[in-house]
Amino acid sequence: MRRIIGVKNSTTNWAVLRECGQEPLQLFWFRASISFFTSMLDSNSETLRCVLKADLHLASFDSSCWSAQASNAFNGLQGSAMFKQKMLRATQVSMQEFICDLRFRHLKVWREAGFSCPRAVNKKAVTYHKWCGSSESGPRGSPSSIPSYLYKDLDKHVLRNFSRFRLSAHHLRVESCKWHGGSSICDKCECGEVQDEKCVLLSCKCAEMCELRMRYRDLFEGMFKALRAFAPLSSEFNPFLACHHSITSFEINAFLNQDS
Ligand SMILES: [Zn+2]
Repeated sequence: MRRIIGVKNSTTNWAVLRECGQEPLQLFWFRASISFFTSMLDSNSETLRCVLKADLHLASFDSSCWSAQASNAFNGLQGSAMFKQKMLRATQVSMQEFICDLRFRHLKVWREAGFSCPRAVNKKAVTYHKWCGSSESGPRGSPSSIPSYLYKDLDKHVLRNFSRFRLSAHHLRVESCKWHGGSSICDKCECGEVQDEKCVLLSCKCAEMCELRMRYRDLFEGMFKALRAFAPLSSEFNPFLACHHSITSFEINAFLNQDS
């Protein structure tokens, strides 16, 4: 998946999966295992049912048997005790309840990221979740959908650069200062802000950024609307946000995930 969207190997796994609208392989493996267990319970083969019961009985003595390993995999789920009990008693596990619980466990990374501010913690997962990650759910109950830019007929390098920008796989100072050292403050203008996605997108006053915002003015106009009320001429378009203008993470996320 990293190769498809053109980001480097060190890019956060969870963010890459979410950007591609995918769920972790462990989810499919565990779902298939429980589905297999349910099928064995319902099997019309007496021998197979007996083998399963023997394995379930063995689980309390031998941690290497299939039932013991499958049962241990329930650890960390909200209904862990209930699922384990059902399995060891050879009764049906509700697939719907189980998959919901499993997804809830996998979404822990985003729930934790939701409590932090990207500029306060400087973690890729937090930046991605707050500013870039789409919150739309995908097909078949998947918690993430594929962002609209991946459906567009974009030039390969444009698509790659956009993915890199969204997944913090770029060379902005907020990232480069981690391995090169030095300051994370923007060196392209006097904005004095940390040079991160938010700065590049909205605040940086360097000519290149301003020119880009002017070119895609229709996209930025809504966000810069509040400033226009204070501009000398209300028709003037100011291509950057002033330092006193605060913008929320939610607004940045909505901007980056708009369908345009
Ligand atoms: Zn700047």
